[in-house]
Amino acid sequence: MLLTKQILQNALNKQAPKVLLRKFSDSTSSGVCFTLSDTSRELQELARKFTREEIIPKAAEYDRTGEYPWDIIKKAHEIGILNSHIPADIGGMDLSTFDGCLIAEELAYGCSGIKTAIEASTLGQTPVIIAGNDEQKKKYLGRCVAEPIVAAYCVTEPGAGSDVSGIKTKAVKKGDEYIINGQKMWITNGGVASWYFVLARTDPDPKCPPGKAFTGFIVDRDTPGVTPGRKEINMGQRASDTRGITFEDVRVPKENVLAGEGLGFKVAMGTFDKTRTPVAAGAVGVAQRCLDEATKYSLERKAFGVPIAHHQAVAFILADMAIGIESARLAYYKAAFEVDKGGRNSYYASIAKALASDVANKCATDAVQVFGGNGFNTEYPVEKLMRDAKIYQIYEGTSQIQRLIISRAILDKAKNS
Ligand SMILES: Cc1cc2nc3c(=O)[nH]c(=O)nc-3n(C[C@H](O)[C@H](O)[C@H](O)COP(=O)(O)OP(=O)(O)OC[C@H]3O[C@@H](n4cnc5c(N)ncnc54)[C@H](O)[C@@H]3O)c2cc1C
Repeated sequence: MLLTKQILQNALNKQAPKVLLRKFSDSTSSGVCFTLSDTSRELQELARKFTREEIIPKAAEYDRTGEYPWDIIKKAHEIGILNSHIPADIGGMDLSTFDGCLIAEELAYGCSGIKTAIEASTLGQTPVIIAGNDEQKKKYLGRCVAEPIVAAYCVTEPGAGSDVSGIKTKAVKKGDEYIINGQKMWITNGGVASWYFVLARTDPDPKCPPGKAFTGFIVDRDTPGVTPGRKEINMGQRASDTRGITFEDVRVPKENVLAGEGLGFKVAMGTFDKTRTPVAAGAVGVAQRCLDEATKYSLERKAFGVPIAHHQAVAFILADMAIGIESARLAYYKAAFEVDKGGRNSYYASIAKALASDVANKCATDAVQVFGGNGFNTEYPVEKLMRDAKIYQIYEGTSQIQRLIISRAILDKAKNS
């Protein structure tokens, strides 16, 4: 528990610990290693403890009220897991995607709505991490390390989600500023974030390719003209804050352009290499919770004189859940490993997200089935899991879009071989 203590101690001292990145070659000279390094295991234990103590006891209430879980966000900030991916020179923990995924799975096990609130801040910060200059990183990521604030990623619009190149929000350069006008939709943390990553069209020519037509901006929440809409009432993950945001003559200094004018599409899409895999890990957390709840219930509930787990049809439901969970977990391990090696991982991240999302939804439906009539009722935990699971097949690229990415990669490889 040395590292855990060190993280807590450093969090209290407001210093980032030097966490060693997990190396797959640590314990084996060849082949694949399935053993977590001590560092990874201790981070997993830290997140598990946090989930048991801080998230699980409050999850149902946050789901019922839809209130934003600020107290949990503040505690996550205190122990370092809110900004675990921020580089060490800015004061973050600089964790690998792999370790971030282990944490994400644990948090989602407790409440995937609360985990989404935390993860969406990472989504907003990642464009700055991958494309920001030193000043931008120091100013915006530094603020996140210094105080418990969150960020948001503003790309989707009422008229364009999957088809990012169809967004209409525009930014026009005037002197040393850009003037942004447009409407964003479905923005997680939209009403609570202190700053946003915003993608806008800077080249009005419809023939301009997406790789040159859009620019990414950092926009402070309190800039005049930024107006978040009402909190959307969603099917699940209700602790998370989802809103539309209007940008009306919002003046942004040119210093807040990320990577350069015209490079925003690349930044927005490149972000997903890092963030899609933790989303898959979150779906695995939901699926694992479904299996654990269903297993426990199947040993307690009796039908025809025996616990329902003794009916093979029920036991096999549990077995199928486990098959899905173990496979999806390995898929996200692989996707995280690929991006931590330093390359692009779009193919593996899409496989992990598509598989884990489908597994989470199947496990949630099956868990409700194991609970019978009780499963359909809010007094029991699995109806929340079923409502929460659905969004995994939609946000950060729908399951159809993941299959589009996977199939394109297969076909490109075949054509080039
Ligand atoms: C709760 C929630 C939180 C969100 N958080 C954020 C956020 O923080 N930031 C942000 O920018 N966005 C966010 N989103 C938006 C989310 O990423 C989009 O909803 C998603 O990408 C789908 O876009 P859409 O809703 O416009 O659906 P559409 O793109 O209209 O798709 C509708 C249907 O058509 C299918 N489809 C579309 N194109 C194709 C194709 N080429 N081939 C096959 N099928 C296709 C889709 O798979 C889907 O089934 C969030 C959404 C929700 C609901």
